[in-house]
Amino acid sequence: MTANIKVAERKCYINGRFVDGRKQFPKINPVDGTVVAQVHEADRAMVDEAVRAAKAALKGPWGKLALQARVDLLRKVAEGIEKRFDDFLAAEVADTGKPVSLASHLDIPRGAANFRVFSDIVRTYGTESYWLDTPDGKGAVNYAMRKPLGVVGVIAPWNLPLLLLTWKLAPALACGNTIVAKPSEETPSTATLLAEVMHEAGVPAGVYNVVHGFGPDSAGEFITTHPEVNGITFTGETTTGAAIMKAVAPTVKPISFELGGKNPGIVFADCDFDAAVAGMSHAIFSNTGQVCLAPERVYVERPIFDRFVAALKAKAEALVLGFPQDKATNMGPLISRQHREKVLSYYELARKEGAKVVTGGGVPRFGDSRDNGAWIQPTLWTGLPESSRTVREEIFGPCAHIAPFDKEEEAVEMANNTPYGLASTVWTRDLSRGHRVGQAMEVGISWVNCWFLRDLRTPFGGAKLSGIGREGGLHSLNFYSEPTNICIKL
Ligand code: NAD
Repeated sequence: MTANIKVAERKCYINGRFVDGRKQFPKINPVDGTVVAQVHEADRAMVDEAVRAAKAALKGPWGKLALQARVDLLRKVAEGIEKRFDDFLAAEVADTGKPVSLASHLDIPRGAANFRVFSDIVRTYGTESYWLDTPDGKGAVNYAMRKPLGVVGVIAPWNLPLLLLTWKLAPALACGNTIVAKPSEETPSTATLLAEVMHEAGVPAGVYNVVHGFGPDSAGEFITTHPEVNGITFTGETTTGAAIMKAVAPTVKPISFELGGKNPGIVFADCDFDAAVAGMSHAIFSNTGQVCLAPERVYVERPIFDRFVAALKAKAEALVLGFPQDKATNMGPLISRQHREKVLSYYELARKEGAKVVTGGGVPRFGDSRDNGAWIQPTLWTGLPESSRTVREEIFGPCAHIAPFDKEEEAVEMANNTPYGLASTVWTRDLSRGHRVGQAMEVGISWVNCWFLRDLRTPFGGAKLSGIGREGGLHSLNFYSEPTNICIKL
């Protein structure tokens, strides 16, 4: 329960010191509406100080560290997260309300794993070289040398706070950059705890700075428009990505964007039925549907359509919406009342657009403190046209529309008929079809008979409105470093 959680103070972390903001804002726990943290907001001068500290650190001890020493420090950070696993878990759960069972399996372990993975990969990161073979260039060699971008602004969302922050942070640090990070205003806590871990690990002052706040006219904008920030890596909504693109244009910064999605799931009649139902239920409802990769559009081959809808409905109705600490809980609240308003507006819109509500569609009543939180019912619809807004726009809640199809080509066409292109999941026992349909998806990541499975060395990112660039493994290192080409005539 959250009643006995004491209100934490989340300060900014600049140049190796925790500092107060001139203003503070409360962080509300979405389980029961209580205040769990007071967050210090950074103003423009504080962001400027953080950028100056980060710039100075590039020339200080951090910039002079040998690669192996940097890798050793990053491994210490991974160990530090693991040593304080319970603190990170409690902070993440208090900010998000997500079940302890989820955060302890996914968010916190991946926070540590991101540092380990990129420590390993950066050790083998090579560069290219070529002997020139032109009449005037004979005997000359071209080789590339990779340098850090410099000061990297990391702007993170609230759905997987530590996981997504460290996903950017770890490769950026591995490449030798310094960081000004802005966690979401909804999830300030684990980024702040990470500052303590960095400090304890011996990461020099100025290398990792945290500035709390919002987007426009706040820390987010102050980072993106800062002339001394050399690159921006961002995860969040597509519309925010567009605003950031505009903001960075005058200073021409490199950007890496992981944005929104409206992902399709395609279920063929020859699938392993139980595995497909379990897999799709997991994909739609995990983290209360607040996963960029979650399928909000499900296409099911007609012969199994009714049976599949009934089985998915049974799964939705069996979800346990409980306090995060309860072992049986497998669905938490949405992140905030404000986000619930947005999701509920789509629940309303779906009805207006003519959907049949298979299950859910409203707010659950508990008769306890949860009634002050941001809970919502898991919801499934059928019967909407593909042109409806409910089927076209990202909702980011525990909901999906299910439609039947008759032919493979029809399913592919419907799946791809979206301005987004993040992820897809296809279920079939026919592996030829699995490859064929999997490859036909216009997305950054295409799963077959699974969802959210990935080796962290593989490319990750979105096509179309779902992002710019790829991260993961060498793709991350390519973004967070910049080659200088040296040509020497021997
Ligand atoms: P958001 O875009 O509202 O906010 C993300 C971050 O950007 C926050 O830290 C916010 O304060 C900051 N921000 C907002 N406006 C800004 C501005 N003008 N300038 C600078 N910073 C600004 O997104 P959210 O609601 O936190 O997260 C949910 C969204 O993120 C969904 O659309 C989801 O699909 C997407 N997402 C994508 C991925 C991916 O890998 N593609 C992963 C997770 C979430």
